[in-house]
Amino acid sequence: MNTLITVAPTGAESAKVDVPALPVTLDELIETAKACEKAGAAMIHVHIRGADTEPTLDLGRLNDTVGALRAETSLVVQLSTGGAVTDPYEDRIRVLDAEPDSCSLTCGTVNFGEDVFMNPWPFMVDLYQLTQEREVVPEFELFDLGHVASLNRLLDKFGLPYGGQIHCDLVMGVPGGMPGTADALVTAVNALPAGASWSATGIGRTSMPVALAALAKGGHLRVGMEDTLTFAKGQPVRDNAQLVERAAQLAVIAGRPAMAPADARTLLKTKDRR
Ligand SMILES: [Zn+2]
Repeated sequence: MNTLITVAPTGAESAKVDVPALPVTLDELIETAKACEKAGAAMIHVHIRGADTEPTLDLGRLNDTVGALRAETSLVVQLSTGGAVTDPYEDRIRVLDAEPDSCSLTCGTVNFGEDVFMNPWPFMVDLYQLTQEREVVPEFELFDLGHVASLNRLLDKFGLPYGGQIHCDLVMGVPGGMPGTADALVTAVNALPAGASWSATGIGRTSMPVALAALAKGGHLRVGMEDTLTFAKGQPVRDNAQLVERAAQLAVIAGRPAMAPADARTLLKTKDRR
């Protein structure tokens, strides 16, 4: 199977003032999305910012963002339900009102640097059941081996996701989560439910080892400035497209070039809302 490249261009962690290339306005996001699609991305994982460039879960802005991405690109639109670590659960769940193709669903709480990213079991259950009801394909975000166990428990108790395809993303190398190593990746992948598709992303300096291990193990890739701000030692990332271009090159070398957005829709079994 060819490689699904997801771009996570913004995140909630970096400040525009520190990282000028970070897309924070809708115009910047659309420009980034177009460039990344051209470079080989098939899905975009979106966190939005307010007029003050700070993270927000404002529903009006989320609606505008989903609409504009659908109008201007063919990318599968995935909204983060993580928000920023300080966002209340109600606001994180309300993201589904913007009717994305996909949304992230993090399968457990994790230390996140100095902060704690809260994903207690009842929140996971509420969010999962809402994805089923709203016909949104969840991407299960797995920061730790315990999250893989929680994913299996969630599927045992509540059945398959909308569309029937279980799709996961291993988020590795977060200070507090599993390390971004080939060994950790193989252990986590071997614990995934049968038939699951998965991508992996390594935070910061674990970006390359995780990408190479993921390709070697038959997985997909997530890259972007949410996860990595350094392209190589001493060299800041130019923009998101630069990271997508490199991922696409690696995918070619691995013999599984980047898949088109239409193939990503087929793989993930998203509902066509265009
Ligand atoms: Zn995110």
